[in-house]
Amino acid sequence: MVIEKNRVVTIDYKLQDTEGEVLDSSEGAEPLVYLHGNDNIIAGLEKHLLGKKAGDDVDCLVPAVEAYGERDNALVFTVPKSEFGPEAELEIGAQFEAHGEGGAQIVTVVAIDGDEVTIDANHPLAGEDLHFTVKVVDVREATAEELEHGHVHGGCSCGCEGEEDCGDGCGDGGCGCGGCH
Ligand code: ZN
Repeated sequence: MVIEKNRVVTIDYKLQDTEGEVLDSSEGAEPLVYLHGNDNIIAGLEKHLLGKKAGDDVDCLVPAVEAYGERDNALVFTVPKSEFGPEAELEIGAQFEAHGEGGAQIVTVVAIDGDEVTIDANHPLAGEDLHFTVKVVDVREATAEELEHGHVHGGCSCGCEGEEDCGDGCGDGGCGCGGCH
């Protein structure tokens, strides 16, 4: 069975930046299981996986624009220190979860000047071309329920398995199953 839209795909993967530094890997962890064609993983990687089958190896470079996007300087801005909780340990490089219109996102402190803190809300991998080394482990048909939810059930720790009202338990964008391990 080959990978195509609405099939459930299991992959082992390694993600490196263009310098060869390993950013993420399923090695020593669970393989990634996702529902193809449902925005569970980045589009640029899905494109390379389309048509592959169990046992196939994929080695590809996904340009930033098809991964986490180019860096946007408009997402670097200054906020008063009081925006952060009293517990926050403010230092350059510290990362916080901010809740904005687009949902939760990670922001990184890039400068601190008196009471002003400059943060960068670009995705930490924005602007990075990503090198994926992937081994396809399994491809199967999705269940009707998985198709309805737009993500994989089973083998996922979100607890939604088999439950009719999993929408609540899974949250926005899914347990991601792709991303919940
Ligand atoms: Zn679900």
